[in-house]
Amino acid sequence: MSLNIVSAESLCFQYNSVEVLSDISFHLEAGDYLGIVGPNGSGKTTLIKLLLGFFKPGKGTISLFGSNPLSFRDWYKVGYLPQKINAFNPHFPATVKEIVSLGLLSRKKYPKNINKSDEPAINSALSLMDVSDIRDELIGELSGGQQQRVLIAKAMACEPELLILDEPTTALDPETREKFFSILTTLNEQKKITIVIITHDIGTIGKYASKLLYLDKKAIFYGSFDAFCSSNEMSGYFGEYSQHLICHRHDDKAAHS
Ligand code: ADP
Repeated sequence: MSLNIVSAESLCFQYNSVEVLSDISFHLEAGDYLGIVGPNGSGKTTLIKLLLGFFKPGKGTISLFGSNPLSFRDWYKVGYLPQKINAFNPHFPATVKEIVSLGLLSRKKYPKNINKSDEPAINSALSLMDVSDIRDELIGELSGGQQQRVLIAKAMACEPELLILDEPTTALDPETREKFFSILTTLNEQKKITIVIITHDIGTIGKYASKLLYLDKKAIFYGSFDAFCSSNEMSGYFGEYSQHLICHRHDDKAAHS
């Protein structure tokens, strides 16, 4: 039986009486990989904030893991990588291992202390993201790609079942970005982590994700990339050429023949 991870039903949200999300519904089961794409200001980050319970929807409902609201003790099941505003200051006084160990706190009861018994979980998150060899380095001295891997290791330390990422590739060069997406694919395929990612990489995300939510304050499209590829409505909206650049469901020859 498939496990219902996210169920968002007819969500609406306003900031100061201005509607920024209207009638958004989507459903994710364990192992789904959803890309959320849309122009600036289309409501992507607001939607993530609703999922994370930072804001309450004006209308509609959200349940996570079948619960609405998600019980406090189950929040460790959700890993969140916020938008990276600035790189760390080079002198920020925390090592990679210290940053990753903070990720364990959401699973702990009070008093929330890290101790020797946490070493295996920390080591396993470091090794999952291939940052064990830089564990004692200061986070601020690392490259953008390395910092990003450390932050995913932190989000993965409490072994979440759902990973939510807000524009994680903005500051990455193309090669590091491809590596980043391939790490997410490994987490999704091998560890069956459900992934929700906001990305501006509309030309890339179809290579990796199984579902697409294209937002422009309302859902312009929600469904599988396969359905996106064969949708006449989306051919009309994006034009066939762009539609098939986005979908990544067949090679270029097939797309344009
Ligand atoms: P996106 O992530 O797609 O760029 P956002 O969810 O950040 O979009 O914003 C959606 C709309 O809501 C935009 O018009 C933005 O200006 C507005 N908005 C975002 N945050 C606030 C806020 N805290 N107060 C008022 N308006 C906001």
